[in-house]
Amino acid sequence: MFEKIAVIGVGFMGGSFALAYRELFDCKIFGVDIKPEALRKAKDLRIIDEGSTRIEDLRIFEPHLVIMATPVRTFPSIAKGLRLSIAQGCIVSDLGSVKGDLVYRMEEILGNRFVGGHPIAGTEKAGVEHATRNLFKDKRFILTPTPNTDPQAKESVKKLWERIGSLVEEMDPHLHDFVFGAVSHLPHAVAFALIHTIDELSKEVNLFKYPGAGFKDFTRIAASDPIMWRDIFMENSKEVLKAMSVFAESLAKLKGLIETGNEKGIEEYLRHASSKRKGID
Ligand code: NAD
Repeated sequence: MFEKIAVIGVGFMGGSFALAYRELFDCKIFGVDIKPEALRKAKDLRIIDEGSTRIEDLRIFEPHLVIMATPVRTFPSIAKGLRLSIAQGCIVSDLGSVKGDLVYRMEEILGNRFVGGHPIAGTEKAGVEHATRNLFKDKRFILTPTPNTDPQAKESVKKLWERIGSLVEEMDPHLHDFVFGAVSHLPHAVAFALIHTIDELSKEVNLFKYPGAGFKDFTRIAASDPIMWRDIFMENSKEVLKAMSVFAESLAKLKGLIETGNEKGIEEYLRHASSKRKGID
């Protein structure tokens, strides 16, 4: 499809994308990363062919497609560097977890060849050494075009993700941030806060010595990369804060039911949550 692609941010997601792409197409892959170590590892693992810490080196490589896979708050400055380093016809897309206003800011810099995207796949692990080529298979991929997006660029990115095996769905960028603010960013915030809570309660007894299966399941995502999540919370703060308020109300409701010894109320509260959870496959 695209003979020459560039990945900006050769970490877990960028590396996984490069592996999935290489498996399907005969191509050359150029990596850009601020960490020389990440580029070296990616080259050793044959994830990229060449790499550089300097975005300007894309002028020589002349990619047909650029995929951005860095923490989301780096996107605008990287886009400014890209604008000066790639040809007019080069499509730019991303794997970032926040869309909304960010997509429009990217369009202002890069024009209508920018196509926002978010793979609904991942883990708490960071770094190219964890990259895996089947990460995106049978997983949702949310495409977030705007009324300005070039239809051909959108179609190319959509086809690419379908070939990789993802289930592509289009969504308005702001709706995306509401949806994933609730079902992804809030749970991560709660998991981080729960670890802080257990740490706070560990003054007399080290509670981390007694992790049950539920605690481990629930808090796995609190081991996620702090920089990536700082950027997500900052960039989607409006939706995350709204979701956090609703969560605080739900927790306060349960607290109230327990405080007042409302057995029936507790049971109803739990029954409702349990049936909703069982409805997810
Ligand atoms: P990662 O830490 O594994 O990789 C990020 C890479 O970007 C690192 O190698 C880092 O050195 C590099 N980098 C940071 N700033 C840079 C800059 N200014 N220029 C060039 N390189 C830079 O993180 P990841 O998990 O691969 O996440 C990458 C993106 O994917 C993020 O935008 C994240 O929101 C999104 N995402 C992650 C997941 C997940 O589960 N990890 C899921 C969906 C989307």
